[in-house]
Amino acid sequence: MIHLDQFTRTQRIAYFSMEIALQNEIPTYSGGLGILAGDTMRSAADLEIPMVAVSLVSHAGYFEQEIDADGRQVEHPSAWKPSQWATQLEAKVAVPIEGRLVWVAGWLYVLKGHMNGEIPVILLDTDIDENQPADREITHYLYGGDDVYRLKQEIVLGIGGIRILQALGFTLRQYHMNEGHSALLALELLRRYAYPQGDVRPGESAYDVPRVREQCDFTTHTPVEAGQDRFSYDLVGRILAEIIDPATLKQLAGEDNLNMTRLAMNLSEYVNGVAKRHAEVSRKLFPGYHVRAVTNGVHPFTWASPPFRELFNTHFPGWCHESEILVRAECCIPDAEIWQAHAQAKQGLIDKVRNLTGVALKAELPILGFARRMTAYKRADLLFTDIERLKSIAEKHPFQIVLAGKAHPKDEAGHQLIEQLHHHMRELLDIIPMAYIPNYDMDIALSMVSGVDVWLNTPLKPMEASGTSGMKAAFNGVPNLSVLDGWWIEGCIEGGTGWAIGDSAEVANGADAASLYDKLEKVVFPLYYGDRGGWIAVMKGAISKNASYFNSHRMMRRYAAEAYVR
Ligand SMILES: *Cc1c(COP(=O)(O)O)cnc(C)c1O
Repeated sequence: MIHLDQFTRTQRIAYFSMEIALQNEIPTYSGGLGILAGDTMRSAADLEIPMVAVSLVSHAGYFEQEIDADGRQVEHPSAWKPSQWATQLEAKVAVPIEGRLVWVAGWLYVLKGHMNGEIPVILLDTDIDENQPADREITHYLYGGDDVYRLKQEIVLGIGGIRILQALGFTLRQYHMNEGHSALLALELLRRYAYPQGDVRPGESAYDVPRVREQCDFTTHTPVEAGQDRFSYDLVGRILAEIIDPATLKQLAGEDNLNMTRLAMNLSEYVNGVAKRHAEVSRKLFPGYHVRAVTNGVHPFTWASPPFRELFNTHFPGWCHESEILVRAECCIPDAEIWQAHAQAKQGLIDKVRNLTGVALKAELPILGFARRMTAYKRADLLFTDIERLKSIAEKHPFQIVLAGKAHPKDEAGHQLIEQLHHHMRELLDIIPMAYIPNYDMDIALSMVSGVDVWLNTPLKPMEASGTSGMKAAFNGVPNLSVLDGWWIEGCIEGGTGWAIGDSAEVANGADAASLYDKLEKVVFPLYYGDRGGWIAVMKGAISKNASYFNSHRMMRRYAAEAYVR
């Protein structure tokens, strides 16, 4: 039996996220946003920052990906058993949905840091006897269903989340919204802080908006308007009861429809983007708002592969807590040891690729890696823009490719990308050994970012708010070759930590391909084959200049100092 008092005794910061990657066996995440939420909580646990996370239990998970014989994605449910990893809580709260009450219960997952810290994670669940069958499914499918389903989930997350924290006896000093999905929590706070009716004079707000803003922090992740969650007021009127008066709601969330990003921006004193460029882009999207930048990071222990953990333990004891010490990688790790650790990680990937796909890769040839959500703007196909050029590069400098990634079940373009990649794989069969690992998850991510020789990223600018897989590569001494967008604008030192594709100006789709080919042919592969010492210097640069900075401990210390204490 877990006693909640050990967590409720301390005043905490509540962190709300629609998805969270707690561990590989728990499929409550779909991509970077969930990994970031998990890494954020892992750092909070390591640094003993008093927080509590709130997310949905997502019983049916995201989905399990199979690739059929024609190279098409097939989706299977990936149900999990919360009772295997979490403890059922006794509290239940009700939220109004479609004119009835829906009951929300929760599970407690305890996230342990590498020292003494522990963070409680509450996973909200509507699959309980009190609810009608349809309502029991509200917390089943991560990013599933239509607008109506999504709004119901966001009511459970934001309003249900706040109410259950209160019911469980938490005392909270701040509410941090990881993306706009949880913004309804701020409405619930407004309702809580409404002035008594007799005290409101005509023309004055009926709510203590400054008090809500004082307690809310918002991290935006979406650099384009089309990506923001929006609901028509017609839908809102049908599904969500009147939490606050409609006129105030429109003032805060937008005249035409309820924009969750706008709502979160208006009700948070502290707003930030996830990289410097992303903050600039967000300021243009929302003129007049003060948008700060806290560049993302990844969790040190989680994203260093076993050989690199061992290497860092030997040379930099304490690196798990204070990753800044990795700045000393250049002087203090002998070349042979780095190369050896990398060779071990690479062999691990080669074995995994053989087991999962049957493709035999060679340890002596360089591997290019690319894995992320398969969605149009990530441009997984950019590398294959000019097949003849790619072949001619491979004839001069043989190389191999490993790919992975899931497409959202409703993303047609994403599905086509996966098919196209498999088409290229067959087309290049005799020239470039290539594998597509199905069912991308945290484990496969760690094998890939540590086992390849170059980590590739080719998003369409300015769509990549930050990107984090490249930071994971840096923790394993793997240099990035990437378009200058998101974190890489800050992380790239040309020839020092990796290489840039194109420049940081926005370009038309496809325009970066020539630069990508030039870099591979004239810079990256010649260095790999011609100058082992020079190559290892770049590997060390990735560790000393990227991993030492782009980690979630630095990010968390900044949130703690700038957002949570103010
Ligand atoms: C790190 C990670 C991501 C995010 O990678 P990006 O480079 O930000 O797209 C997505 N999925 C998994 C499983 C990851 O580990």
